[in-house]
Amino acid sequence: MTQPLIYIVEDEPAQVEVLSYNLEKAGFRIVAADNGERALLLVAEVEPDLIILDWMLPKVSGIEVCRRLRARPETKRLPIIMLTARGEEGDRVRGLETGADDYVVKPYSPAEMVARVWALLRRSRPALAGETLEHAGIIMDLAQHKVTRKGRPIHLGPTEYRLLQSLMERPGRVLSRAQLLDLAWGRDVHIEDRSVDVHIRRLRQALYLADGVDPIRTVRGAGYALDVEG
Ligand code: CA
Repeated sequence: MTQPLIYIVEDEPAQVEVLSYNLEKAGFRIVAADNGERALLLVAEVEPDLIILDWMLPKVSGIEVCRRLRARPETKRLPIIMLTARGEEGDRVRGLETGADDYVVKPYSPAEMVARVWALLRRSRPALAGETLEHAGIIMDLAQHKVTRKGRPIHLGPTEYRLLQSLMERPGRVLSRAQLLDLAWGRDVHIEDRSVDVHIRRLRQALYLADGVDPIRTVRGAGYALDVEG
């Protein structure tokens, strides 16, 4: 598993420095943005595993960034920790209403932040904690590299396996072809979007053979998602 990527969106350089230092020490990759507009551009380019988002930001506020991310299917479930200043009790509630998964009140200890980040990542991406993934009757044992559906073993090629893992780690979330390319092939590999369709088709066939139900949903013009309802 590669190091989880975290975006820190904060306009106070001292805060960014302390946070980056501590999160990097804890094994995360960090990219910082000092305003909301830049944060949205970064997310559109490469989706991180988690965002730490300051409430008070120039240009586009943290709340607005959160709202916009939640409004788009691709980033609807992106893990977000909101930073708020002490005493903004009403704001704290609003922060959660806007869709942040967690919030941390300033001043906070770096150790607390690292713990919160791990807790949220574990909730949203069980694979980061080395567990098995289980959705739609499919069980992926990541340690043993084994996939079963309704108890029947499923044999997948390496690309299909990575595609399935990418979808299983983000159940219900729509992933674009570009995102799937990044996740299953890596960022610097040049492959056409159509290749994603070919491998998704193979993955579907393998999953269908085991259970007779296709768990992958095609979202026209957007990409693919693992259906977790029903
Ligand atoms: Ca700020």
